[in-house]
Amino acid sequence: MLEEAEVVCPYCGEHFTIQVDCSAGDQAFIQDCEVCCQPIQFDLHVGAHGGVASLTAEREDA
Ligand SMILES: [Zn+2]
Repeated sequence: MLEEAEVVCPYCGEHFTIQVDCSAGDQAFIQDCEVCCQPIQFDLHVGAHGGVASLTAEREDA
């Protein structure tokens, strides 16, 4: 089950939308920013109803 989530890049501050797979449960993954191409560390938490409960974006080097 793919859902779209809006995120803010921790490097350049731009907003963009990514697709996350909520059927896989809580997960951490790295995806490049669509704007500045820096690797962003995402931490996804899935809620009780299978949707995005929270999604944090951090610098990979933080
Ligand atoms: Zn960026």
